[in-house]
Amino acid sequence: MSNQIERLINIVEERKEDLVSLLKRLIEYKTPAPPARNTKEAQQFIAEFLEEKGFSIDMWDVYPNDPNVVGVLKGKEPTLYNSLIINGHMDVAEVSEDEKWDVDPFVPIVKDDVIIGRGAADMKGGLAGALFAIQLLHEHGIRLPGDLILQSVIGEEVGEAGTLECCKKGYKADFAVVVDTSDLHIQGQGGVITGWITVKSDKTYHDATRRQMIHAGGKLFAASAIEKMTNIIHGLQDLERHWAVSKSYPGNPPGTNTINPAVIEGGRHAAFIADECRLWITVHYYPNETHEQIIKEIEEHILHVAHADPWLRENPPTFVWGGKSMIVDRGEIFPSLEVDPNHPGVKRLSQTHEHILSKEAIVDVSPTVTDGGWLGDAGIPTVIYGPGKLQHAHAVNEQLSIQELVEYTKVILAFIYEWCHSKKSELTVE
Ligand SMILES: [Zn+2]
Repeated sequence: MSNQIERLINIVEERKEDLVSLLKRLIEYKTPAPPARNTKEAQQFIAEFLEEKGFSIDMWDVYPNDPNVVGVLKGKEPTLYNSLIINGHMDVAEVSEDEKWDVDPFVPIVKDDVIIGRGAADMKGGLAGALFAIQLLHEHGIRLPGDLILQSVIGEEVGEAGTLECCKKGYKADFAVVVDTSDLHIQGQGGVITGWITVKSDKTYHDATRRQMIHAGGKLFAASAIEKMTNIIHGLQDLERHWAVSKSYPGNPPGTNTINPAVIEGGRHAAFIADECRLWITVHYYPNETHEQIIKEIEEHILHVAHADPWLRENPPTFVWGGKSMIVDRGEIFPSLEVDPNHPGVKRLSQTHEHILSKEAIVDVSPTVTDGGWLGDAGIPTVIYGPGKLQHAHAVNEQLSIQELVEYTKVILAFIYEWCHSKKSELTVE
C-alpha cells in the first residue's frame, strides 16, 4: 500500500472524535420508515457534504420529502481506472411508542465505547465511515483516477428501493459496496419477494346457507374462501418443507428458504359466507435463485393443490407478486446477490481488510436482505460490507462499537483509494 494511504489510515485513529460526531449528526436526523417521508433534511446534509468535496449532485424526490442523493466525483482518468459505487440507505427502522430505550433513540450518546441511537448499526454507521473516508481524501488533496459515486438512498426499510431508482437512472460502476450492517463480513444475500394469494368466490351467500354447502344432500356447490385458504396454507407448508430438504446454499443454514404466511384477511362479516380471502406471504430464497423462478415454483405447486380440490379447481387462486412499497402497495422485492470470490473487487477488498485489520476476511451470506440485490440485478458486481451487528439492527438501544466503526472507516478509505487507483480489468495484486 502506498505511503500516502498508510498515513491517512493513521489519521482515522487520530480523528476518531470527528468520525463519531459525524455519525451522531446522522442519527440526529429523525428518519424512521415507517412512517417515512422524512429524509429530506438528512439528504440535504449529505448533498452539501459531498458538494463541498467536489462531487456533482443529483438529488430527486422518490416520494415527497424522501429524495435520493447521488454524488459523482469524476476521476482524473475514468476510462482507464476502476469506478466504485458506495451505497447506503438514510432511512432507519421504526421506533414504536412502547419501546424501552435507555436514551432518546434520536439523541445519540456514547457509553462504554459504543454509540447508542437508532440507525447506529443499520446503517448510518456505514454511511458515516464512507463519508469520513471521502472527507479525509478531500482534505489531503487526493484526486482519484477512477470515478467515485456515493448513493444515499431512501426507503430500504419499507421495501421502497431507492437504489432501484438509481439503477434506473443508469448509474453504473465496475464495483459496488453496500455499506449496510455486515459486522465487517463481505457478503452476498438471498432474495425476498412478497406476494398476495387470493381465493375468491364469484357468488355471495347468506351464512344460513352453510348447511347446504357442507352437508350431505345440500346440493349447493359453494365454499367458504377462508376455509379453502387453509388448503393453500398447507400446500405452502409442503413446498417449504420440500425446499428445505432439497435445496441448499453454502453459508446459509438449511431451511433458510422459508415461506411465511404473514398476514391474512377475509370475509365480510358474520352474516355472510366468506367469499374472499387474501394471504400475504414472504418468501426467502437462495442467492443463486431468482424471484421469477420462485414465483413459477409456487404458482405451479399451489395450482396443483387447487386442482386436487373440487371447488378450488373451479375457483383457482390468483397471485399478485412483489410491489414497490410495504406502506403504499403492500409488497416488496429484494433480489438475491451472489458474490464471486474471484472478482478483482472482492479480492482487493479482502486483501485490504486483512492488511489493515490483521484479521481474516470472511466472505459469506447475509441472513437478511439489503439493496445490494438491486445493484447486482443491474449487472454491477456488488458486495455488502459494513459495520454493526444484525442483533443490534432494528433493536432497542441499537448500537455500534466505536472500535468497529474506526476499523471499518480505515478499510473503506483504503479500499476506495486502492480500487479507484487500479486499472480496469488488469488489477495488479501486491
Ligand atoms: Zn439496512
